[in-house]
Amino acid sequence: MNKGVKALYPFDKETSMPIDATLPYDETNIFARILRGEIPSKRVYEDDYVLAFHDINAQAPVHILVIPKGAYVSWDDFSARGSDEEIAGFVRAVGKVARDAGLVAPGYRLLANVGAHGGQEVPHLHVHLFGGQGLGPMLAR
Ligand code: AMP
Repeated sequence: MNKGVKALYPFDKETSMPIDATLPYDETNIFARILRGEIPSKRVYEDDYVLAFHDINAQAPVHILVIPKGAYVSWDDFSARGSDEEIAGFVRAVGKVARDAGLVAPGYRLLANVGAHGGQEVPHLHVHLFGGQGLGPMLAR
């Protein structure tokens, strides 16, 4: 991999470890820092419930991350502890971001990694929104 490009990433994809989704929320995680405005992001949408921004290491022509503003480690944490209002706000925002990106007619894919088997690397819930081309099989084999 090109070392110059790699140096831009906040962690090393080849050596980083998946997180333990059962641990308490870590206020120092990179998405918490983005939410606090401590580090920049390429924002595409924001409302009371979510922030959406471009993934720094895009895996498709469109690769947007949608995160709740609340402190939730994972989909498991959010689905268990999130209020009905936060969950509705999040789900509606994910749909809106995809719609606004023009992805409904061509189609798109949503992905939320949880814990070790999911390969989750950032311990703040995020849904990946992929689109812009045919995305191939659901899982690598
Ligand atoms: P996951 O493996 O599901 O936890 O995905 C984490 C995602 O966060 C990866 O696709 C990274 O490329 C992305 N990412 C990490 N740091 C940043 C950042 N500062 N800005 C945007 N995306 C990031």
